[in-house]
Amino acid sequence: MPAVSNNLRAILGQLPPAVGLVAVSKFHPLEQLREAYDAGQRRFGESRADELAMKAAAMPDDVVWHFIGHLQTNKVRRVVTCASVIESIDSERVLRAVSVEAERIGRCMDIFLQAHVAAEETKTGFLPEEIPAVAGLAASLKGVRVVGLMGMASNTDDENRINADFAVLAELSRELQRVIPSATELSMGMSGDWPLAVAHGATLVRIGSAIFGPR
Ligand SMILES: *Cc1c(COP(=O)(O)O)cnc(C)c1O
Repeated sequence: MPAVSNNLRAILGQLPPAVGLVAVSKFHPLEQLREAYDAGQRRFGESRADELAMKAAAMPDDVVWHFIGHLQTNKVRRVVTCASVIESIDSERVLRAVSVEAERIGRCMDIFLQAHVAAEETKTGFLPEEIPAVAGLAASLKGVRVVGLMGMASNTDDENRINADFAVLAELSRELQRVIPSATELSMGMSGDWPLAVAHGATLVRIGSAIFGPR
């Protein structure tokens, strides 16, 4: 039995049925995506515009593509064309650019606002205090529809810190819903920490290496 489908089955067996799974396939070859697809997986996560475009062209049409990487303004057009959802809206500039581009092609793009709560400065996203104002701005833009909040916990073995980060993200999700009541999705949790994220109310987890192996 191939590894990818076994890994998928094991995770789906532990994941509450109400929590969605984004299989993060970045840097992994198409044959592994096909294996996951044949095992029933439909939501895939990619972090680079060019890789997303290549894989979207090669995979069946019913794949739901989540873009989860930092988005440069010059790649917005490509990602708006190929992605079903952009989870990584991390600046006002990208937010406005996505809305303009989506409107241009007659589309309303589903997006998540990405919040930065982790210890690492290399991670991107809005600061917690920025979320209500950004949500207000996003609600006024015609080319985007905010479906939820996305975030990452600190990259650490310290479960207290990880739990604290997920608690902050859950609180931010509630603040976001006070501005946009329909933005109920909460995307958090990766291979190393997803059970903690689910305990804190994640509605979507993004799991890569635990499905596809190391990158
Ligand atoms: C790569 C990535 C993931 C998946 O990470 P794993 O540790 O491989 O599960 C999830 N979310 C984002 C934003 C990522 O860039």
